[in-house]
Amino acid sequence: MIDAALSARIRDAVDARFAEQTDFLAELVRYPTLRGEEAPGQDFMAAALRERGYGVDRFRIDLDRIRNLPGFSQVPDSVSYENAYNVVGAWRSDKPKGRSLIMNGHIDVVPTGPLDRWDSPPFEPRIADGWMYGRGAGDMKAGLAGLVYALDALRDAGWRPAADVYLQSVIEEECTGNGALACVARGYRAEAALIPEPFNDKLVRAQVGPMWFKVDLQGHPVHVLTTGTGANAITAAFPLMQAVHGLIETWNADDRKHPAFAGVEHPINFNVGIIRGGDWPSSVPAWCSFECRVATYPGQDMEAAKAEIRACIDEAARRDPFLANNPPVVDFHGLQAQGYVLTGGEDAEAALRSAHEAAFGAPLEEIAITAATDSRFFGLNADIPSFVYGPQAEDIHGFNERVNLESVRRNTQAIALFVADWCGLEAA
Ligand SMILES: [Zn+2]
Repeated sequence: MIDAALSARIRDAVDARFAEQTDFLAELVRYPTLRGEEAPGQDFMAAALRERGYGVDRFRIDLDRIRNLPGFSQVPDSVSYENAYNVVGAWRSDKPKGRSLIMNGHIDVVPTGPLDRWDSPPFEPRIADGWMYGRGAGDMKAGLAGLVYALDALRDAGWRPAADVYLQSVIEEECTGNGALACVARGYRAEAALIPEPFNDKLVRAQVGPMWFKVDLQGHPVHVLTTGTGANAITAAFPLMQAVHGLIETWNADDRKHPAFAGVEHPINFNVGIIRGGDWPSSVPAWCSFECRVATYPGQDMEAAKAEIRACIDEAARRDPFLANNPPVVDFHGLQAQGYVLTGGEDAEAALRSAHEAAFGAPLEEIAITAATDSRFFGLNADIPSFVYGPQAEDIHGFNERVNLESVRRNTQAIALFVADWCGLEAA
């Protein structure tokens, strides 16, 4: 436990540097760290960590080293890992007496969508009414910056962690999770992990495991003047999508719901995200492919789930005269995440709860989310209790993404207090 005077000193130290922290966040948002373009942003992070005296490990993700690990997501050959760098800043205590900690954030961001739908350019951060706008401001550069400044606050208050602390800036969170997995494969371990993803200053208790798959359909091409003799691959796709929708509704029914999601109305969301097909308005299309995202519950057998989806698509295809003899091909590729429920780590959770209360003056609430975070790799691959707790953001992955700066300030205070309690302190 942190006494009241120390708690106040640490919180004041966060406040004293908050303007600088906000500038740092803005700088981070200016790097368009889209997939394949993260390296300059990672260079910036490496420099910031080195400047602070941490041991910096900047390494390229080696697919051969992670390919056979649980949770690995296959990447298409077209995706290069040539510039795929993770950065880890380590504070290593000479005489550790507290408990070690991994702090992790991802620097990669999702595409912006059409720029003219943004009120201001996504990579030119703007502050209005206490919110910072920009792609990645919320998801999750505010959290990443907060980790850096939480440790700065301890130093400013005259302390440093009395245990090893690893601050990881990873990539690939938005598509595969292979960045965090590579950190685990490289050997980083600690007694707890903390990821400040933007979930409104709440503790994430449970998360689902999203997976991607693609369905390829054939058709029979004819001129439209004899449409009846052909088979349209595009329109044949819709009943298959409907069938999967129906299947996934059964996964959301109470008897299939994972207990951690009892209070969540619709935990498993199915999305058709990409469709392609055909090549000419006056030709019955000979091909169509659509790509989907679905999810499984923590502990759900993923192979059995895939088999259910395949069977559902096969059955729907058998009702189509052409597809019955030309069955669609279903391929699970890309993101293949397992769900995760935070269990164990009661001591760390108690520390986080009291840190949150000191910063926010209210108890820490918890939620179950219908998406995934990198915490699964620490929790499932390395048995490290993994806490997701970050600031309030809105329209992440949408237009005008923004993060609430007051929430960022308090969240940073809470994280600084958590580190002080969990890792213990030694005089700087
Ligand atoms: Zn995120």
